[in-house]
Amino acid sequence: MIAAPVKTLVSTVDLVKSYGGFRATDGVSLAIAEGSIHAIIGPNGAGKTTFFNLISGFAKPTSGRIVFAGRDIAGLAPAAIAKLGIVRSFQINSIFPHLTVLENVRVALEAKTDLPYKFLAPGSAMRALDEPARALLARVGITKNLDVQAATLPYGRKRSLELAIALALDPVLLLLDEPTAGMGNEDIERVTDLVREVAKGRTVMLVEHNLRVVADLSDRITVLQRGKVLVDGTYDEVRNDQRVIDAYLGGGHA
Ligand code: ATP
Repeated sequence: MIAAPVKTLVSTVDLVKSYGGFRATDGVSLAIAEGSIHAIIGPNGAGKTTFFNLISGFAKPTSGRIVFAGRDIAGLAPAAIAKLGIVRSFQINSIFPHLTVLENVRVALEAKTDLPYKFLAPGSAMRALDEPARALLARVGITKNLDVQAATLPYGRKRSLELAIALALDPVLLLLDEPTAGMGNEDIERVTDLVREVAKGRTVMLVEHNLRVVADLSDRITVLQRGKVLVDGTYDEVRNDQRVIDAYLGGGHA
């Protein structure tokens, strides 16, 4: 059987971000295949967060291109980038703590829907989105206590809620900032399964320090070091690469 050709959804071309004279991103050229889960890893300070900031518009590139679905998006504002279907979750907190769990997802659905609901009476607008909001919450395993304030949820559940909010926005490209940061083993397993589930039918990029999670989830991995691509490949290719082993041993924890 001949494999289907791999289509690139997003690529960066010689992307640079300088802070003063320091290049946090130093000429990164990278292609992310449509429908893949692609991890960005590297020692502390390697430029992973900066790279995400550039793609999501939270930082403006000093030079270089970011091509998303055939269009150069480098330097667009975060809202414009979000409108194109690039949604970021986790490190940037997307939860409204004083709204209920259900309301949080409903607000995201409203933002995505962008129409007729707004013209309905407030009560019916809410009811119209209740059902899809409940369905999304069920998908991430939240089926009870939908009317409690989001702030009161335990940490692991908050992350599930963030995923439901991200799903409500129905992204083409989902950027996940350290989805398992600060979690115990049980939550790590649950969130890993969830990420796999929400990745169906879309493209996911993730920054993640837990290499077990990276190995479990990723189709492809890019290792950054000092703002540059050190190695790009499958998990097996990356983990046996002497440069990666050296970078991790010499450059801080994974
Ligand atoms: P970590 O794993 O610790 O989160 P990282 O790989 O995400 O690290 P970045 O946060 O992207 O790394 O930082 C890369 C480098 O750029 C670091 O040396 C950091 O100090 C520097 N840097 C990041 N943002 C800024 C900024 N706004 N101003 C100046 N330097 C910055």
